[in-house]
Amino acid sequence: MDIKTYVSERKEALKKAVLSAKKVPTLAIIVVGNNPASESYVRGKMKDAAEVGFKAIDTHLEESVSQDELLALIKRYNENPEIDGILVQLPVPKHISDQAIHRAVAPEKDVDGFSPISPFECCTPKGICDYLSAEGFAFRGKNAVVIGRSAIVGKPMAKMLLARDCNVTMLHSKTSEEDKCFYLAHADLVVVAIGKEGMIDASYRFKPTCWIVDVGINRGEDGHLHGDCVPNLPVERQTPVPGGVGLLTRLALLENLLEASK
Ligand code: NDP
Repeated sequence: MDIKTYVSERKEALKKAVLSAKKVPTLAIIVVGNNPASESYVRGKMKDAAEVGFKAIDTHLEESVSQDELLALIKRYNENPEIDGILVQLPVPKHISDQAIHRAVAPEKDVDGFSPISPFECCTPKGICDYLSAEGFAFRGKNAVVIGRSAIVGKPMAKMLLARDCNVTMLHSKTSEEDKCFYLAHADLVVVAIGKEGMIDASYRFKPTCWIVDVGINRGEDGHLHGDCVPNLPVERQTPVPGGVGLLTRLALLENLLEASK
């Protein structure tokens, strides 16, 4: 099933679930500054919430807001029983620490799943694993290669694949080209989260049965969005960009929010 159809079916299930829920799941989104990409992501999240009958409120703070002021707002949302989930749109300005934000959001409202003590799984890896499961990918004993080791994608992705009994290898910017070729040639699943357009191309050899999940979102010189992989690699499945992992991430956020509201 293509990702758009899968996501729209899952959203239908969320719409039904909200009808029988005791309260409307409510998300508070905090944006600091005027990053155009952040603004666009937040618009997408507000639209998704409205589409399934959830409530979302967005609060925009000036670029110059202090860390203490931001943490005080998070505290108010933590204490507000109307709010089920809190999301601070990253990146935040350099004078504010991501770690401080992750620590400040109450774990039971951390629907992004960024804090190590959040009961929720990180949205991007959760969205990917749920989709792979729905598509019948048999995780156990499969060679999974994760390229990129960020705290919000690569690392939680590797952990979740390990929990599903994959043999997981993590590659990063210090991995030699020779080793990258070796690991990719033996992979049954490759999750690419580098953030550089077209890094994985047809010069690498893949198993014809390999599945590739392209997390990357890069604005190309042509003004369009491109993945970290070139399209149409000679593999069994490859997720598209755009219209791929971004949709799965947004779906996972809605699913975490529904759980949080329960
Ligand atoms: P980061 O910049 O935090 O991490 C990038 C990772 O890629 C680092 O671990 C880095 O290695 C590694 N890397 C860099 N160059 C290479 C290379 N040549 N070969 C192998 N590894 C390399 O990025 P994020 O994880 O936050 O995001 C990655 C991409 O995914 C971005 O395009 C981002 O926009 C996108 N994204 C998409 C989402 C979606 O919903 N579709 C959600 C989140 C992110 P090292 O650690 O050694 O520096």
